[in-house]
Amino acid sequence: MVTSRIVKTKSIELECKNCGWREQYETPIKHCPVCYEDILYARYDIDYLKRRGWADEIKRRKPGLWRYHELLPIKEPDNIISMGEGGTAMYRARNLGAMLGLKNLYIKDERQGPTGSFKDRQASVAISVMYEMGIQEAVVASTGNVAIAYSAYAARAGIKMWAFFPDMVPGDKVREVALYGTEVVNVTGTYDQTKTIAARFAENQGIYYDRGIKSIAAMESMKTMAYEIAEDLDWQSPDWFIQGVSGGMGPLGMAKGFEELMELGLVDKIPAIGLVQSEGCKPMIDAFNNGLPVAVPIENPDTIIATLSTGNPGRAYQLLYEIMSEWGGAAAAASDEEAFEMTKVMARTDGISVEPATAVAFAGLVRMVRNGDIKPNDVVVFNCSGHTFPVEKRILGEKWAKELDISDASSDPVLPTDTLVEAVEKVKSPISKVLVIEDNENAARLMQRLLSVNYDVSIAHDGQVGLEMAYNLKPDLIVTDLMMPQMDGFSVIERLKSDKAFRDVPIIVLTAKELTAHERARLSGQVDTLLQKGSFLSEELLQRIVDALN
Ligand SMILES: *Cc1c(COP(=O)(O)O)cnc(C)c1O
Ligand SMILES: [Zn+2]
Repeated sequence: MVTSRIVKTKSIELECKNCGWREQYETPIKHCPVCYEDILYARYDIDYLKRRGWADEIKRRKPGLWRYHELLPIKEPDNIISMGEGGTAMYRARNLGAMLGLKNLYIKDERQGPTGSFKDRQASVAISVMYEMGIQEAVVASTGNVAIAYSAYAARAGIKMWAFFPDMVPGDKVREVALYGTEVVNVTGTYDQTKTIAARFAENQGIYYDRGIKSIAAMESMKTMAYEIAEDLDWQSPDWFIQGVSGGMGPLGMAKGFEELMELGLVDKIPAIGLVQSEGCKPMIDAFNNGLPVAVPIENPDTIIATLSTGNPGRAYQLLYEIMSEWGGAAAAASDEEAFEMTKVMARTDGISVEPATAVAFAGLVRMVRNGDIKPNDVVVFNCSGHTFPVEKRILGEKWAKELDISDASSDPVLPTDTLVEAVEKVKSPISKVLVIEDNENAARLMQRLLSVNYDVSIAHDGQVGLEMAYNLKPDLIVTDLMMPQMDGFSVIERLKSDKAFRDVPIIVLTAKELTAHERARLSGQVDTLLQKGSFLSEELLQRIVDALN
């Protein structure tokens, strides 16, 4: 039984970008009745909102996705199913930015949604639409996060959910879905096959099937990220929006959001889009980098990053290609291993713990910076799309915790302090002393933070002081910059290396500039490692230090 909950009406039209068909939006439809285009666009009376001063009005509302309700496909606000989604924080990633040489790197922290990913936006809008339409049972195919978010919201709306999963989805995610009372169906097959089977099941059973990216709710929900980003940048569009993509709904929705903000006269462009996929499933990356408007589907994705395993992006890629051709963009792939490595880098450098689908996107961002697509002064917004609960086992490897056995002492009601001190001492390895000579304060602070976890770090802000500290502290290793006032790094290195006491102390050079042949010759034989500042990764630096100390 279907009982519609629409009371008032608000004017929303559906538009087909392909043939221009346009009609009043009443209920979700499968495709354009004229040309069968299956991704349709919702259109609102934006002119009216502009005249009304909508941009000032929303400032007075509570943060969150529904403060933009006039531009969302719900007719009656009472039907909104919400858990405070959207309105996520956007903040500067100072350390990761410094590491990459990016001055304006922002994290749009979508991990802060109620179930830990940006699918909470989609779930809130999609489930609200279902509720408003009086739908009582629904089927969804998912690689994890959509099903988790939908299940949570469906529980609140009293809608029964069926979730179909390909077998590569991690068990922890499937269990969370079951926790919400959703019926779980595991399919031995790919994500694309799972979608086909779920759609057929829904059709046979006469149950509503959520068409994901092909539903109005999906794109409409994602566009709210654009509104928030632009408002946080004082009504400016960033130069780049970077995301790990599967179906491509995030960037498509984001682009529609900026398009609407342009119509409202609030911003002047759609950001360039940086698409990232995993090496084992990168149909969009291959197509874009070969200048193709249509992607060749991948039949058997070979990646453990289930979240990004759409092998056939279909129309979504074509639409993205059109947008990126007009407004700019780049595409890059990275391996699963790089994603795991990057998970650690993000967590250790800026305190951000993400799931592999997000980490692979960061690895792609690193590529785009290194190959010059993204410039040092560009304003870059990185969609930090999902959290990493639970921590993927492969990221940490073996031996990530230190064992502390105090069973001998535990019979005492009060643990004798010396036993405790002794036990704790055992856990700490002998600490090496590292002297960092660096005149740039931000860079010095970043290195202090990175290294002080494992080393006893001292900082000198110029060459002369560095030299004095070296004699006083007798460090086990020296990390130095080259370009410094008073005494430069070259002289510091030459002075130290001419002294027997320092001949065996390893030196790592971090330099901001390309070295001339003459400068390289001056350093040769004197230093252990030369790293280009602004492009080293924290893990790379740490590894070089470990190597140099052994
Ligand atoms: C769904 C998802 C993606 C990919 O989203 P699309 O924009 O639909 O391609 C990326 N990261 C996370 C964490 C996701 O849940
Ligand atoms: Zn059409």
